[in-house]
Amino acid sequence: MNGTRTIAFIGLGHMGAPMARNLVGAGHRVIGYDLLPPLLAGAVEAGVEAAGSAADAAAAADVVITMLPAGRHVLGLYKDEGLLAAARPGTLFIDCSTIDVADARGAHEAAAGAGMRALDAPVSGGVVGAEAGTLTFMAGGGEAEFAEAEALLAVMGKKAVHCGGPGAGQAAKICNNMILGISMLAVSEAFVLGESLGLSHQALFDVASTASGQCWALTVNCPVPGPVPASPANRDHRPGFAAPLMAKDLGLAASAARAGGVQAELGLKAAELYAAYAEGAGKDRDFSGIVTTLREQSASTAAGDPGGA
Ligand code: NAD
Repeated sequence: MNGTRTIAFIGLGHMGAPMARNLVGAGHRVIGYDLLPPLLAGAVEAGVEAAGSAADAAAAADVVITMLPAGRHVLGLYKDEGLLAAARPGTLFIDCSTIDVADARGAHEAAAGAGMRALDAPVSGGVVGAEAGTLTFMAGGGEAEFAEAEALLAVMGKKAVHCGGPGAGQAAKICNNMILGISMLAVSEAFVLGESLGLSHQALFDVASTASGQCWALTVNCPVPGPVPASPANRDHRPGFAAPLMAKDLGLAASAARAGGVQAELGLKAAELYAAYAEGAGKDRDFSGIVTTLREQSASTAAGDPGGA
């Protein structure tokens, strides 16, 4: 379906606010709600209409978009806070949050049970992509639902991939980020090893970026300053893609791997390392900043402290 839509947008945080703004900019009517009043007020300044509750927003809309922290928030809203019950039958629910695959499937089931249609459509691209309208969406759900959502996803992003049935978007998201978490650790370990062998960052970069070590973690988000001037390493690892978000995504991948009996030793190790980093030095750093922790731990070990403390 084309044309102007009435969209309920629930969750106007770092990602949701700019996404809602872009929908307003494209001429859609957006009715917003967030638990935090200052965020709702900010969205109103950008042309979003304020609703008194999430259910009120959904009641007036023909599409409901959620951009929330985790699965429990999505399921809580859908069921306990009456979002599904308030909407008109057949309303399309698009959840763009990054949540557990099982929760995403639960959300699809709850929506279908209430006579609604649903799509899981998590994103990649971060706040910068949300602001620029250049996100990548990975969608799970029916063909018809994806086809209907495409015009809206095109306003908020540059690419939308239909990955399969319910939960497939979330599955693609956590698999991709498991690759990213592991490859950032590999690149970071290689730089620290190179340092100990007297190899300059630039020399290792010049070789690996044009050889078989080439990957996004090296060529775009290089963890050491110098070779890639735009990478967060050049600004003291300010995010970028914050380490706690990487830890969250790797945690989702690890629990899915465990639940499925999948042999994913590197993914589980990456989840463990990022959980520790995100709780400590990486709390407000880009995920590439883990190179600093690896370097410090290596120095401690070399100095004779095997615990690296
Ligand atoms: P955020 O915490 O800034 O925003 C979430 C918002 O949801 C908050 O403003 C919160 O008040 C609101 N909220 C929570 N429960 C609510 C409820 N019941 N009713 C109404 N509002 C409610 O988080 P974010 O950075 O915008 O991320 C949102 C989602 O996008 C997360 O799942 C995250 O993993 C994912 N994501 C984030 C990024 C990023 O770079 N920030 C990148 C990709 C994916």
